Amino acid sequence: MKTIIEPFRIKSVEPLRMTTNTERETYLKEANYNLFSLKSDDVLIDLLTDSGTSAMSTKQWAGIQMGDESYAGSPSFYRFEKALRELAPFRHIIPTHQGRAAEKILFSIVGQKGKVIPNNTHFDTTRANVEATTTEAIDLVKKEGLDPQLEHPFKGDMDLNRLRDLLETRADDVPLVMLTITNNSGGGQPVSMKNIRETKALCEEFGKPLFLDACRFAENAYFIKQREEGYADKTPKEIVQEIFSYADGMTMSAKKDALVNMGGWLALNDDDLAMNARNLLILTEGFPTYGGLSGRDLDAMAIGL
Ligand SMILES: *Cc1c(COP(=O)(O)O)cnc(C)c1O
Repeated sequence: MKTIIEPFRIKSVEPLRMTTNTERETYLKEANYNLFSLKSDDVLIDLLTDSGTSAMSTKQWAGIQMGDESYAGSPSFYRFEKALRELAPFRHIIPTHQGRAAEKILFSIVGQKGKVIPNNTHFDTTRANVEATTTEAIDLVKKEGLDPQLEHPFKGDMDLNRLRDLLETRADDVPLVMLTITNNSGGGQPVSMKNIRETKALCEEFGKPLFLDACRFAENAYFIKQREEGYADKTPKEIVQEIFSYADGMTMSAKKDALVNMGGWLALNDDDLAMNARNLLILTEGFPTYGGLSGRDLDAMAIGL
């Protein structure tokens, strides 16, 4: 039988402050109609973002109590590393305080003037971190993704013809290829497994690593299960494992699909890149077994995953 209720119950109550129409008009005017300038206490229904706003589960709150705050070698880190490797078996897993910190480290290492990073669509922090290193950021989402009226199951797919053109003309300038799942700045549209597989094949042909900006990997896997032929009977976990089997690295905002209020990571297979990344991490985020996070945050991420 189809389950029609959410399989959880909510047992914590947080009162909301009601506002009047006049109050809301005043707040909006005072904020110059910029939603980022409002005080959240003045907002009754907050649709600004899902980033870091999810409720944690009872098990995540219990995990917070288990957090170990040792400076180096905390068991919280190893629990996080193990949970992530079960889904995404990258050799090097480097925690950071947010997704953009992972991006800053990655592009500081691979970016420089004259280089170019292709993506289906760069998220705003991703583009900013690419361009901050004077690297060019180009968006190659397929044309269906640019037509809001069009119905199509995978409007986040990379345009493989344009990616091939770029690699054929400027291969030496491309340090890596990024693919954002789901494609946040393209309306949160998903990328098909076929497209991830074919993007990887194209990267291999030109000897380029494929990195996933994987903030909503679980949601993308769900869309694949719902919409892509051959995946209806696979579990979301199996689909996630297949997605990451095509990648050489990932950046992640744990504020999204790791269901925590703060966190992120950079994960990758290349030993030299990882060493450079850890050196930068120590400079700005923290020791490699905690990044910019507390031990308890790492446990909440492990359980969230
Ligand atoms: C949120 C997000 C980021 C940045 O992550 P932060 O944790 O906000 O720094 C990068 N890419 C995508 C696709 C995102 O959704």
